[in-house]
Amino acid sequence: ARSIGVLTSGGDAPGMNAAIRAVVRSGIHWGFKVMGIRKGYNGLINGDIFEMSLRSVSDIVHRGGTVLQTARCLPFKTEEGIQQGAAMARVFGLDSLVVIGGDGSFRGAKDLSAHGIKVVGIPGTIDNDIGCSEYTIGYDTALNTVQDALDKIRDTAYSHERCSVLEVMGRKAGYIALNVGIACGAEVVLLPEKKFEFDKDIIKPIIEGRNRGKKHYIVIVAEGVGGAIEVATEIEKITGIESRATILGHIQRGGSPTVRDRVTAGMMGVRAVELLKDGIGNRVIALREGKVVDIEINEALEMKKDIDDNLIELSKILSL
Ligand code: ATP
Repeated sequence: ARSIGVLTSGGDAPGMNAAIRAVVRSGIHWGFKVMGIRKGYNGLINGDIFEMSLRSVSDIVHRGGTVLQTARCLPFKTEEGIQQGAAMARVFGLDSLVVIGGDGSFRGAKDLSAHGIKVVGIPGTIDNDIGCSEYTIGYDTALNTVQDALDKIRDTAYSHERCSVLEVMGRKAGYIALNVGIACGAEVVLLPEKKFEFDKDIIKPIIEGRNRGKKHYIVIVAEGVGGAIEVATEIEKITGIESRATILGHIQRGGSPTVRDRVTAGMMGVRAVELLKDGIGNRVIALREGKVVDIEINEALEMKKDIDDNLIELSKILSL
């Protein structure tokens, strides 16, 4: 039988399990043998590969993280590592591979495709930072986790009339920061995509807000900007408003995936297998204009997307 390997690579994200499950179940449905590969490309190089059954993915659809585990695999960035991976795929009879991860993981997949393995990428990362896709699996769950945390911080910030500075994940992208900023009414959102000046973009809105009667202030700092503690210290020094920084960290990556992440993972996993069933490889699954599509992998890797300037404007108006 033809066989598909499936792995998760890069940072973990809620919904990766739902995607693995979709690949396994639809793969078996279409007559494939499906092999799980542990710890990303490390497992491919080391032959940490096992056959998955319909029941091997029972009871995981609601779990965060990834049952296949994930890793960053430095050797896979070298031609030698790619060759080792391709050789091991041959040993296990894998002619195709589904890679659930980010851009970096898709680059590895592309290199592997040069050795005759049909690859399909599925966007999985909480950061939503994949150029070819409007949406990445894990993003919605992370947004909701950050929103919950910030709602709690707001309760105490209000009670003490404080300024809360919250640093959120997103690597070089500000999607989480901006959207949670809108959802939670942040006075200031600092994005890696946009230059800012401390006085004009941080102090001024806080002081003006105070003059309009605000009792507390929320400043969101995206990971790609960083320095939440320094930002809080500086705000307190200049304005006299007591300021506290919270760096949310890894709680943002965990948790049970939301409906949106589970359903998207299901649709993308099934689409990936359908392509392979039709003998099509070297594609990335993406969401474009709300629809699941697939894009040639080189083209997908070159695509870029921008943060929406209208949303940035909106976040300012809503926090007046
Ligand atoms: P996330 O953004 O969620 O962390 P990612 O897939 O972008 O996801 P990376 O750490 O960039 O995460 O990549 C994951 C793995 O993919 C790397 O550890 C490496 O094994 C492989 N990889 C990354 N870049 C390349 C590349 N240019 N060529 C070959 N393999 C690569």
